[in-house]
Amino acid sequence: MRLVLVGPPGAGKGTQAEFIAAHLAVPKISTGDIFRSNVSQGTPLGIEAKRYMDAGELVPDEVTINMVRDRLAEPDASEGFLLDGFPRTTPQAAALDKLLADLGTALDVVLELVVDDDEVIRRLSGRRTCRGCGKIWHVEFDATTREGICDRCGGELFQRDDDKPETIATRLREYAEKTAPLVDYYGAQGKLVGIDATGPVEDVTVRAIDALRSYGG
Ligand code: ADP
Ligand code: AMP
Repeated sequence: MRLVLVGPPGAGKGTQAEFIAAHLAVPKISTGDIFRSNVSQGTPLGIEAKRYMDAGELVPDEVTINMVRDRLAEPDASEGFLLDGFPRTTPQAAALDKLLADLGTALDVVLELVVDDDEVIRRLSGRRTCRGCGKIWHVEFDATTREGICDRCGGELFQRDDDKPETIATRLREYAEKTAPLVDYYGAQGKLVGIDATGPVEDVTVRAIDALRSYGG
């Protein structure tokens, strides 16, 4: 299955991506994770992306599309994938359609996680990520047993630089202006399915898997 997750920052894409990708047995490809890994390794791509990420802005389309093209060419993505955080603009969506068409394939479905702005702000403000295994936690909604220590691997938790209030506001604006139009883009293709992404994480996962069933998931 070839699947895209769309929704505002903090909607729970990364959290759900892990469960859905495991359920579908496809690789989870998160452009945010790939950028962050490049930033921490100090690669030229990371140095370029960091300026935009720190400001809460989107990395330019050309850079992002080239990165995704390379990632989708890897063998593990040949039979299916779950994209988390890409596409985020209409040109990125059109480039993805073209890329897949050139490979003789297409997306199966786009799953939209629907959450309002107030909830997104609460989620982003308390988000913590494990340095060791990448698991996403929340100080209140999904807290670890020991503060600052991952329950899964014992790694240290950190708060993302772009989860500060000023940056959150810019990211929500970027979403509304540049990413929200994708709902219409994929709606017109008949590929969009939206689910209520509020409530416990496990409930959202059940809703997601139910919604994907009718698309062959
Ligand atoms: P995104 O990838 O869409 O930016 P994340 O998956 O990183 O979002 O989730 C943002 C924050 O919200 C994290 O701290 C996560 O633990 C928390 N979270 C995710 N799903 C839920 C949920 N259903 N209820 C409450 N908090 C959630
Ligand atoms: P995320 O982890 O998905 O919240 O992404 C973190 C940041 O990485 C975003 O705020 C952007 O700066 C950048 N980024 C991730 N995915 C994309 C994308 N598809 N297009 C442009 N920028 C992106």
